[in-house]
Amino acid sequence: MKKNILTGDRPTGKLHIGHYVGTLASRLKLQEKGGYDDFFIMIADAQALTDNADNPQKIRENILNVAIDYLSIGIDPKKVHIFIQSEISELTELAFYYSNLVTVSRLERNPTVKQEIKSKGFAESIPVGFFTYPISQAADITAFKASIVPVGDDQLPMIEQTREIVRSFNRIYGDVLVEPKELLPENEVCMRLPGIDGNAKMSKSLGNCIYLSDSYEELKTKVMGMYTDPLHLKVEDPGHVKGNTVFTYLDAFVNDEDFAKYYPEFKNLDELKKAYEHGGIGDVKIKKFLLQILDDFLKPIREKRKYYEEHLDEVYDILKEGTMYAHCLAKETLNEAKNAMKLNYFNNKQLLDEFKNE
Ligand code: ATP
Ligand code: MG
Repeated sequence: MKKNILTGDRPTGKLHIGHYVGTLASRLKLQEKGGYDDFFIMIADAQALTDNADNPQKIRENILNVAIDYLSIGIDPKKVHIFIQSEISELTELAFYYSNLVTVSRLERNPTVKQEIKSKGFAESIPVGFFTYPISQAADITAFKASIVPVGDDQLPMIEQTREIVRSFNRIYGDVLVEPKELLPENEVCMRLPGIDGNAKMSKSLGNCIYLSDSYEELKTKVMGMYTDPLHLKVEDPGHVKGNTVFTYLDAFVNDEDFAKYYPEFKNLDELKKAYEHGGIGDVKIKKFLLQILDDFLKPIREKRKYYEEHLDEVYDILKEGTMYAHCLAKETLNEAKNAMKLNYFNNKQLLDEFKNE
């Protein structure tokens, strides 16, 4: 069996460091490791419209932003096909058939959708498209026969829902679809990086992000204003590390060499945490340390971004080619699925023969 990878992002804004640690880093690792047949990254514009129907311009604007983000972190279009979801109408068709295999109560139980409904303030006015986006996501994953899906942990309910659809489909119609498995980051804090405001998730829609495209000045303002420990008022006070966003980010980004370079009083993060908990270390000091580390991380990304911003035609062609390639595979899968569902009438005259022989 082929080993395909599919993952994606909604073009609701530029990508942020939560995306990086949650899923982009795994994509880069997979890309370098190889050992897969086809690797697809989808810009999920149709999914983004499910909760932004009145703002198509926002989605349009961010197509290129997201594509440039991918290329700036080092996604290699020779190894990965980047494509745009809405260009592939087969995905919508598959989702339509899959919706027969899912109950309303099953959709209502999806914890991520429940959480998003709350945070978007939908209350009683949930768009049907938004409510059913886990089905559309199952179509995206299965159309490309993906067995691996690198994601942050908010996506686990979607992958589970996809597996259920695959099982139902294969049981009823025959073995056509592939069951996917999520690939989560190893470091637990990276599974759902909190926002700079301390909110449980850094999210484009919540406006609490450090973007991969932030300048040094933007980064500095954000880091220096970050949520820390509200009980740590004076430097000598004992501080709390748990729930302290600055430490969560250090957990995600720092390594021992950073200490040798910028904070030689301590050998590693464990030592710094102990000292902070004991008291005597000011928040400004650790914020400056974090700022240094994040700036080192973003510098090479900014450099590459400059190149692509000056070569937009290249980005455009990458998207076009990736979309054409992806389209072929989605067509094939839809055909197989429709054949399995007995929805094929005009390929040959078999329908007539069957009728005559009845
Ligand atoms: P939106 O608010 O529009 O939903 P988002 O910031 O949640 O945007 P998505 O495009 O929905 O971003 O998510 C793309 C991928 O990034 C998913 O795999 C998701 O799990 C991962 N991801 C998003 N935010 C985080 C985060 N804060 N920490 C870890 N992974 C994340
Ligand atoms: Mg999201």
